[in-house]
Amino acid sequence: MPILKRTRCALALSSVLALGACAYNEDLGRNQLLLVNNDSLAKASQDAWATTLSKGKVSRDAQANARVRAVGTRLVQAVGLANRPWEYVVFDDPTANAFVLPGGQVGVNTGLLAIVRNDDQLAAVIGHEIGHMTAQHAAERYSQAAASQLVIAGAQAAAGRVTSADNARALASLGGLGAQVGVLLPFSRKHELEADTLGVGYMVKAGYRASESVALWRLMAQNRTAGGAPPQFLSTHPSDETRIAALQALITARGWN
Ligand SMILES: [Zn+2]
Repeated sequence: MPILKRTRCALALSSVLALGACAYNEDLGRNQLLLVNNDSLAKASQDAWATTLSKGKVSRDAQANARVRAVGTRLVQAVGLANRPWEYVVFDDPTANAFVLPGGQVGVNTGLLAIVRNDDQLAAVIGHEIGHMTAQHAAERYSQAAASQLVIAGAQAAAGRVTSADNARALASLGGLGAQVGVLLPFSRKHELEADTLGVGYMVKAGYRASESVALWRLMAQNRTAGGAPPQFLSTHPSDETRIAALQALITARGWN
């Protein structure tokens, strides 16, 4: 019986994949399941951004906002992404946190600005966030969640247990996903390490010192040890040792400094 179930799931999943959604991403060197892309998440991003702006406390520190915008702009220009809209806002929040939405909205907390020692380290943070965006991590996460919903619906239908109420629920949950989109949910460890790799490459292209990405994560680790609340965007992050080692290996291999 478990075997039968698995076969049905596999069939259901293959029909999801047959939507033509599995694409090779050259930058990441792997296949991605993408039922949606950044553009199709633009509206959901705008909604989430509007909510964040109204619920969060936007910093009135013009200098801090200008600094984040300047570093972000230098990065996106260096990597040829200036032809699409970007927004940068500093939030008055002591948590050492930053985030990006698939629509290109970047938020950086004052708690994170308090930790970074220079613009190179700030570039490591923003480069990492831009990496999530260019890698379409939110779209991938959405696609995986949507696919599993479809698999469940498909499995129920195959088992003959599906009712119109079930169908309605399955569709509603897909619609609900669109509404929440999970744009502010934590990313997986794999996504975090990929964003680190992309981000440090962007730093180098923009003329920032790659080694400062390692310095940044050391400072973040110190902040955590010192009893700082675990930042939300670190909640599923790889351990500091893992990401520092991965970044250091990459920087050494590429001969960056
Ligand atoms: Zn991240």
